[in-house]
Amino acid sequence: MPTNGYLLELQHINQVYRSGERKFIAVQDVSLTLSEGEFVCLLGPSGCGKSTLLRIITGLQQPSEGRVLYRGAPLQGVNPHATIVFQTFALFPWLTVLDNVEVALKARNVPPKLRTARALDLLDRVGLDGFEMAYPRELSGGMRQKVGFARAMAVEPELLCLDEPFSALDVLSAEALRGELLELWTSGNIPTRAILMVTHNIEEAVFMADRIVLMEKEPGRVVTEVQVELPHPRQRKSPAFLETVDQVYAALAGQTQPEHVELGVAPGETGRIRFLPNITINDLAGLLEHLAEVPDHRHDIYRLAEELRADSDHLLRLTEAAELLGFATIGQGDIALTPLGETFAEASILARKEIFATRIRRVPVFRWLTAMLRSAEGQQLKKDVIQTALELEFPPEEAGQQLEIAINWGRYAELLAYDDADEVLFLEPTGAASRSQVGQP
Ligand code: ADP
Ligand code: MG
Repeated sequence: MPTNGYLLELQHINQVYRSGERKFIAVQDVSLTLSEGEFVCLLGPSGCGKSTLLRIITGLQQPSEGRVLYRGAPLQGVNPHATIVFQTFALFPWLTVLDNVEVALKARNVPPKLRTARALDLLDRVGLDGFEMAYPRELSGGMRQKVGFARAMAVEPELLCLDEPFSALDVLSAEALRGELLELWTSGNIPTRAILMVTHNIEEAVFMADRIVLMEKEPGRVVTEVQVELPHPRQRKSPAFLETVDQVYAALAGQTQPEHVELGVAPGETGRIRFLPNITINDLAGLLEHLAEVPDHRHDIYRLAEELRADSDHLLRLTEAAELLGFATIGQGDIALTPLGETFAEASILARKEIFATRIRRVPVFRWLTAMLRSAEGQQLKKDVIQTALELEFPPEEAGQQLEIAINWGRYAELLAYDDADEVLFLEPTGAASRSQVGQP
């Protein structure tokens, strides 16, 4: 058998879908490799072709163009060495948990005794010990998904493909199951040689993968890759983890200028200080949501004024904020959403806060402010003390306004807390600013 060393190789994959006369490019020129021992995440907004790629990789679908090589040989039909786990796993409601897992083995002619032993072992490993005789309806969503995992693992796939396997679960079950999958994988005592997981959750990708392949949509394509060099088990709050998350966000934001040019410098440093535009997060979210709905997510700025019923000053401050935070790019009178901007527009309130927090932690005025608070006694300072310090850098009215904006943004991101009565600003004790060193000068 010819071999190039890769377990899987995609060469210039194109996928065109047709509806009547219309041709729609769902995947454009995707080339990708997967080596033995790798856990790779495909990350991108919904509609960028992630599920399409998984179907092509597992041989459930033929691409319009391009080649899929498995262990160096062109894939023909369904790949018998690959298994796919979907977002919600269909279990047979009339079979017990144990039988649901054994079914997969029966189909491969594994003798009954061995079948049962292997199924029991897997159920034990995913934490379903004691539920072997239960029926799917008696289980929670998280437990049902575990049965799905056990069934997928039962056939001992060389390549395990997962399509947003945790997105239908509640937060706790998702986290538990991520941990269990990682433990199975890193323990090395399963025959799976590589994992390819689709997700649109950035933290999840950084938590699990060795490499993250970032995709964009319209047309669906690979933009870049980020290597994750953190040992397992990974600590979500560790500076190195947050730094990698930031790196992924920055890649998604498609920053073209070096960051110090884009963001300016912090007060007290030499260079251009960039003022925070005076806008509310609500209005910013409104702009991003609006852009997410127009074709190509690109629009003439002047037409936005009308559509958003904003005066032009206000609108320009909004577009400036969107650009500063990496949610949009501006050029030739147009504003275009970045993939990060799209992600924000589609995200839940909680996820928006997290995205916003990662972004503003990079803004120099915030770095300055959080560094000052971190070094203060009790991690808090009176507002007028901060204002006096800021007045060394900005004219007094400007200093006051910059501080107001910083407080509003920081509160939204849950990085800062402000006591209105005592006029005291402090770091949110559980917030990312107090526990992370990311972005410190
Ligand atoms: P993702 O998994 O990243 O959300 P998909 O691979 O499901 O993306 O879809 C990519 C694009 O292709 C979407 O715009 C989707 O509507 C379209 N698409 C997916 N499957 C088909 C199909 N069978 N026929 C037509 N269009 C499809
Ligand atoms: Mg999908």
